[in-house]
Amino acid sequence: MIELKTPGEIDAMAAAGSVVARALAAARAAAKPGVRLTELDGIARGVLADAGATSPFLGYQPSFADRPFPGVLCLSVNDAVLHGIPTAYRLRDGDLLSVDCGATLDGWTGDAAVSFVVGTPSADDLRLVERTESALQAGIEAARPGATIGDISAAIGRVARASGYGLHTDFGGHGVGRTMHESPSVPNDGRAGRGLRLQPGLTIAIEPWFLAGGRDAYRIDPDGWTLRSDDGSRGAHAEHTIAVTADGPRILTVAS
Ligand code: MG
Ligand code: MG
Repeated sequence: MIELKTPGEIDAMAAAGSVVARALAAARAAAKPGVRLTELDGIARGVLADAGATSPFLGYQPSFADRPFPGVLCLSVNDAVLHGIPTAYRLRDGDLLSVDCGATLDGWTGDAAVSFVVGTPSADDLRLVERTESALQAGIEAARPGATIGDISAAIGRVARASGYGLHTDFGGHGVGRTMHESPSVPNDGRAGRGLRLQPGLTIAIEPWFLAGGRDAYRIDPDGWTLRSDDGSRGAHAEHTIAVTADGPRILTVAS
């Protein structure tokens, strides 16, 4: 069941998305060497609370997880790329950090993620982040009325392959609205022209995650959540919640 949103509902989702963007910006600004992941989670909790928003991450327990998620941010360092738990780990110079955040405001949800280097970056990490963001942009550009979910997937997959990065279709994009994960799923690879045809009012999260080692194999930590590359190579993740509109894609997870 896919629920198309009215323009007013899309505006309400953008208000939730703005909270997500502000929480991500605050976490990024605070992410310096020596800072603990739990401190970043605390900062994001403050942004959500000040906005009157709640976290769709906190206490979330999908079928793949054997315990509820304990934070409002997923904080994934270096070879971890998705669903990292905010632990007492202290960031180090050169760490590649992926931050994923959700917020629910007035019954509507936004979901977005960003990756960046803490302190001094390596050229390899900067390229990985840049290519992941390029794939997100390519996916967003493809999200126009009359195109298909497969067009978004193909646009993302094309960037991964051209860049030599590993790509997996587990844990891709998804519908977003009253809850964080709705239909349809938006896989990070696929064939152009296939799948659901996009209509104005469709709201989805698009979220490429790439592995620098070029392989698609990953593993989950004993904590039941943290997803990391199987070969120890670094990963990056980028995500926006967007609306398909008659005028083209509208990014909802931007600060306003
Ligand atoms: Mg997310
Ligand atoms: Mg998501």
